[in-house]
Amino acid sequence: VEAEAAVAAPGSELAALLGDEAVLDGSDPVWSRDATETRGIEGRADAVVFPRSADEVARVLAWCYEHDVPLTPRGGGSGFAGGAVPVEGGVVLALDRLGSVRAFEPLLWRMHVEAGVSTKRVQQLARESGLLFPPDPGAPEQSQIGGNIATNAGGPHAFKYGVTGRWVTGLEAVVPPGEMISVGGPVRKDVAGYDLKSLLIGSEGTLGIVTAAWLRLMPAPEAAYPVVGIYDGTEAGCEAIERVVGSGLVPAALEYLDGGSLAAAGGSFPGGVPTGAGFMVIAEADGSLDEATRQRDELVEVLGEEVLAVVTPEPAELWRWREGVAFAVIAQRGGKSGEDVVVPLDRLAEAIEETVEIGRRHDLVACSWGHAGDGNVHANFVVDPRDEAELDRARAGAEELFAMAIRLGGSISGEHGIGWTKRGWLERQWSPRAVELHRELKRVFDPKGLLNPGKKL
Ligand SMILES: Cc1cc2nc3c(=O)[nH]c(=O)nc-3n(C[C@H](O)[C@H](O)[C@H](O)COP(=O)(O)OP(=O)(O)OC[C@H]3O[C@@H](n4cnc5c(N)ncnc54)[C@H](O)[C@@H]3O)c2cc1C
Repeated sequence: VEAEAAVAAPGSELAALLGDEAVLDGSDPVWSRDATETRGIEGRADAVVFPRSADEVARVLAWCYEHDVPLTPRGGGSGFAGGAVPVEGGVVLALDRLGSVRAFEPLLWRMHVEAGVSTKRVQQLARESGLLFPPDPGAPEQSQIGGNIATNAGGPHAFKYGVTGRWVTGLEAVVPPGEMISVGGPVRKDVAGYDLKSLLIGSEGTLGIVTAAWLRLMPAPEAAYPVVGIYDGTEAGCEAIERVVGSGLVPAALEYLDGGSLAAAGGSFPGGVPTGAGFMVIAEADGSLDEATRQRDELVEVLGEEVLAVVTPEPAELWRWREGVAFAVIAQRGGKSGEDVVVPLDRLAEAIEETVEIGRRHDLVACSWGHAGDGNVHANFVVDPRDEAELDRARAGAEELFAMAIRLGGSISGEHGIGWTKRGWLERQWSPRAVELHRELKRVFDPKGLLNPGKKL
């Protein structure tokens, strides 16, 4: 209680450390929520701090460690697992002010950025120099590179280019009890020591606070041509997906939307969808002009069997529409409760159909879309966020989705992480010894368990 009073009081010890304007009292609920807000998830921030440097981050963590106060790192708050929600109170550490690009060396295909730089800014800077930072999670204006690293975020183009971690060559992080470490750097290879960099990537702020990262870039492909196949149902659509993979083509993205998602979002699809549409596959050819053109023609052919329509929309228009799918689904009733389970590719059709069935069992409208090539199903229940009974049913449905993913040989999370929403489920997916090692690692990094408590485990 004493520690909380110290945190919350104006002119508190934290304000003395960082200055008054770098500390808020946490009364604005925005700091106690993230993108899971419409699912009713809310914590309690006793204070919010905005450090300006890695050194200030270290001082805040040291203070929390000394006073036994929980600390929750926060990037853009776009996470879908409640990871940035301060479920045990304490300090929310917002990384917004760590926003500088320390170095950008386009000729060496690399960038050194602070954690609070937005994903969009990294992508744009790379683009302006003819380069590509491929990770493309769906809220790039809001999410920060530190949050992308902490969740090891994916996105549509992860199918060909991999998730965020593949593009990180070095990390600077603050670890308990308040010390700075650097692992990796502007190097393309590094096998010295245990792979602490990869351990921090995807650790959801439970092992350390990422303050800066060295990112690898690549020359941007000269051309990108999406090809969209529209089918009457899941079976024909998933067969098309398997045909694409089996053909040896490597599209940059391989996405799907099921019938329910199409019903919500299809109305604004560029050019419209034909009557009877029950499934959509989006593939994108990229490379040099010649390669992309050849691959586009091959994709038209492979996607063209048992199809209602094959179209080749303009890339920017298509991806803008694709980014809006989640919002079109939300617009139906004001909210959605979504999970991001992942299954082996040959079980994708089963997972998509069972998602709808699980919804039906809980009297909920369910639909899914996602990164088909990665077997990543964004399974969603459409909800009215004010309806507590409905939210309860959605929570029960989510438990069944997780059980399904494990039964089909997949995983409870392909991109969003365990956070708070999937707590307790890793224990059902992993063997006891693997879970024990996981717990021991947490203890080694954070013996007091103050860093983002309640998450990941
Ligand atoms: C419309 C929409 C579409 C999305 N699409 C995708 C998608 O395609 N793929 C995908 O993977 N995700 C997607 N997401 C989820 C979300 O954007 C990602 O998880 C993103 O990486 C979160 O970044 P953030 O900065 O908002 O992190 P936050 O939400 O603030 O935090 C997420 C987690 O990371 C921790 N964290 C944040 N910053 C740091 C740091 N510097 N150091 C240590 N820990 C930190 C937090 O404690 C928390 O556990 C989507 C979200 C929205 C709203």
